[in-house]
Amino acid sequence: MTHPLVAVARELAPGFATRAPHWDKTRSYCWQNVQDLTDAGIMGMSIPKAYGGQGASFLDVAMVVEEIAKACALTARIVVEANMGGISAVMAYGTDAQKAFCTEHVLAGDKPAICITEPDAGSAATEMRTTARKQGNSYVLNGTKHWITGGGVSKLHLVFARVLDEHGTEQGIGGFILFADHASRNVPDGFKVVGRERTMGLCGMPEAELRFEDVEIDASMLLMPPSGLKRGFADLMNAYNSQRVGAGTVALGLAAGALERATRYVLEREQFGRPIAEFQGLQWMLADMDTQVHAARLMLHDAARSRGTNGGQFPEMTQAARAKLFASEMAIKVVSDALQMFGARGYSDGEPLERMYRDVRMFTIGGGTAQILRTQIAGSLLGIKTPQTRDGYGPNADRMRFAAE
Ligand SMILES: Cc1cc2nc3c(=O)[nH]c(=O)nc-3n(C[C@H](O)[C@H](O)[C@H](O)COP(=O)(O)OP(=O)(O)OC[C@H]3O[C@@H](n4cnc5c(N)ncnc54)[C@H](O)[C@@H]3O)c2cc1C
Repeated sequence: MTHPLVAVARELAPGFATRAPHWDKTRSYCWQNVQDLTDAGIMGMSIPKAYGGQGASFLDVAMVVEEIAKACALTARIVVEANMGGISAVMAYGTDAQKAFCTEHVLAGDKPAICITEPDAGSAATEMRTTARKQGNSYVLNGTKHWITGGGVSKLHLVFARVLDEHGTEQGIGGFILFADHASRNVPDGFKVVGRERTMGLCGMPEAELRFEDVEIDASMLLMPPSGLKRGFADLMNAYNSQRVGAGTVALGLAAGALERATRYVLEREQFGRPIAEFQGLQWMLADMDTQVHAARLMLHDAARSRGTNGGQFPEMTQAARAKLFASEMAIKVVSDALQMFGARGYSDGEPLERMYRDVRMFTIGGGTAQILRTQIAGSLLGIKTPQTRDGYGPNADRMRFAAE
């Protein structure tokens, strides 16, 4: 049975579509939409009922995300990160206190930020330099994170850092839950948002550079991976298996929305004395678009469902990688083809496809590039060690490289 929030998402979508050009043009965060999502119970809908959420499955979330992404990809990304991003790692590995702390904020409308990438550590995430050094009952965080989605608007941050003991000896990579509320100036000393990228698409979302200078975090805010710190990076990166299903679904929604627009337009627009829908060249384009959208949806739903069969915490890694890879590349092509069918009108910012074309381009980059996902899928197929990837897999693979080893 379809989750009731899917119908709610459909009801909210027209308002999101109307407001989407505003967030895009003003590069502002869609607080009004976040309020709607919070009121509807979509923020944190995947959080278990025991923590105040709806206990929705990732398949339910994916169906909601697709409906919203058809209208506004920016808003759909927020739904992903409030259900399938860093919060999924907290719900899987966190202490009761960490879960209670994070769920309270997400259910009140916060979209947690996940902070891994650094200026010199992109695909090679394990080359991160940010450190967290133990000092009594705290850790002291130093380093710079870049391209952090929601930097400056998110209150919760899951910051990945090299954990050092009191003597400075590396213990592995851990995730730290850091709270900062910029609106009320409740920000830990030494934590600064030092810049924001001017992105090509998804312009309402800050992609920020964050700096940590001797930021003190209580030791209770270390999210301990089940394999321990030394081999814990792969555990923490499991959050990306969730996030990839979500990101792929935003791309799917953009493609499905573009296809709907194109299908309507070709029936209305006339050239050579008839609707352009009568030209077989366009009919076959539409048929290919529809087939690709459908295939991506099946792959993403399959990956979302795999969360229920691998211990219930995260989608299976290779299924998530495959689905995101296919959906992101498919969506770029489908949105581009839809824009083509609009002719010059598609090239104008009076037509949402112009924005959708810019928005969709990100999905083969953020959250693991198409190249890294291919490398990971191939590694899983071959069962060999692929030291050039950021993710661990399989029983024989060294799951991360350590400076200490
Ligand atoms: C809009 C957006 C939002 C983002 N949000 C976040 C966020 O919230 N948190 C966060 O931590 N990060 C975030 N990122 C960063 C994102 O995860 C990185 O951009 C991504 O991992 C790639 O790193 P890079 O950009 O440094 O590219 P690089 O790693 O420098 O790669 C450059 C090119 O080389 C290719 N390449 C690299 N290594 C290999 C290899 N082994 N084999 C084949 N090809 C390779 C890549 O595929 C790419 O084409 C975001 C990025 C974007 C664009």
